[in-house]
Amino acid sequence: MSSGLPNLPDRQHCSGCRACRDVCPKSAIVMKADRHGFFYPEVDENLCIACKKCEKTCPMLNQPAACRQVREARVGVHKDADVTARSSSGGAFSAVVRAWQPDAVCGVRWDGFRAVNDIAYCEEDIRAFSKSKYILSDTEQIYQRAAEEVRAGKRVLFSGTPCQVAAFRNIAGEQDNLLLVDLVCHGAPSQKLLEMHLRELAGRKGKTIKSWSFRDKTPVNGKVSSRSARVDFEDGSWQHFEIKDDAYLQLYYARLAYREACGNCIYARPERISDITVCDAHHIGELYPDLSMEKGASTILFHTEKGKELLAGIRDCMELKEVDYDWIVDHNQQLAMPTKIHPRTEEFYRMIDAGESFEKAVGVITHRSLLSRAAGKIKRTLKGKH
Ligand SMILES: Cc1cc2nc3c(=O)[nH]c(=O)nc-3n(C[C@H](O)[C@H](O)[C@H](O)COP(=O)(O)OP(=O)(O)OC[C@H]3O[C@@H](n4cnc5c(N)ncnc54)[C@H](O)[C@@H]3O)c2cc1C
Ligand code: SF4
Ligand code: SF4
Ligand code: SF4
Repeated sequence: MSSGLPNLPDRQHCSGCRACRDVCPKSAIVMKADRHGFFYPEVDENLCIACKKCEKTCPMLNQPAACRQVREARVGVHKDADVTARSSSGGAFSAVVRAWQPDAVCGVRWDGFRAVNDIAYCEEDIRAFSKSKYILSDTEQIYQRAAEEVRAGKRVLFSGTPCQVAAFRNIAGEQDNLLLVDLVCHGAPSQKLLEMHLRELAGRKGKTIKSWSFRDKTPVNGKVSSRSARVDFEDGSWQHFEIKDDAYLQLYYARLAYREACGNCIYARPERISDITVCDAHHIGELYPDLSMEKGASTILFHTEKGKELLAGIRDCMELKEVDYDWIVDHNQQLAMPTKIHPRTEEFYRMIDAGESFEKAVGVITHRSLLSRAAGKIKRTLKGKH
């Protein structure tokens, strides 16, 4: 047993990135899930040698310095309609990969209904990283595996949420053969909550679910919704969901049951810790009427010379337009401040813990919030009239 155990962040500030566990030389850290599926580190004091490597790596204790060499933004859509269709927004991630020409790409793919970080070495495996998986991913020792590739001199692209990218930068440092790509991120619920939803959905349909994906671009009445999902069943049938028909989408976009630390995220700011940030192009139709979030449009933010050098290669793949960085910040809330987690999250947990169905619990909470928002709006309007 040792004295001076590490002082890791509390529940309100631990992002669950698992970097502390990965770097511990004594395997003294295990990640333990709470009852709603959020993982937190636990230190075995009998194994810990108080080296504090975990503290030094933790992105919520040690925020890498922001990259400020460049401050430029572009918006656009991939020239290949198939790439846009299989991407969340406008296919920026795929274009950045193509422009950097890496030997190894780190991203997040589905493994059943788990979102896992992995390394891909060929186009087909890189493709599996496309599309946002709106749950917290299991990083699966990605930091050590990716650091080995960087040390071996391979050209590596590391993508992930800002807390994951920051953790990796704390481990690998800034290297010529490493490109860091973060997402604008407002956080997410746990994998366990998505699984609960899918179990209920499978039960209602009487079918086995094969796969689930977010931001399905199937048009409904000629319109594509960015708040959508698709389920594929083992029998070959499939279904498209819009937010009004799906409880998980309602939970996700209401910021209900997110990880607590996402509400205190230190990375929700305009200054970034990556070479390049990719995100949605919210409200872009106000500047460029031919572009829209619904049809698919991405924003790309450049923070370093290394990132900016890729502009020509990205332009080969995408139709790009110039846009002011501050305009983007003003129109994408998560670039300025952390998510406001739904205030009734505890009430939601109490309902599902008491055996209420996921669908009913989401319905009760989000319906009530809709009613209270409407009441607030009426109050404000009446006040304004007097
Ligand atoms: C949890 C989460 C929250 C987000 N919140 C916002 C937001 O508030 N505002 C905004 O503008 N954009 C947000 N995004 C980013 C947005 O969804 C798109 O990923 C972005 O517009 C880029 O789209 P794309 O078309 O370039 O490529 P995509 O096809 O979306 O590229 C996918 C990229 O996302 C990575 N990825 C997918 N799922 C995860 C995950 N669970 N964890 C880490 N990395 C993942 C892949 O590895 C790959 O790098 C969020 C993404 C995630 C995963
Ligand atoms: S202080 Fe060192 S040995 Fe102890 S848990 Fe952290 S990394 Fe592991
Ligand atoms: S934020 Fe990541 S590195 Fe820090 S304590 Fe939590 S899991 Fe560990
Ligand atoms: S909101 Fe912040 S803490 Fe939460 S997953 Fe995203 S980057 Fe990490």
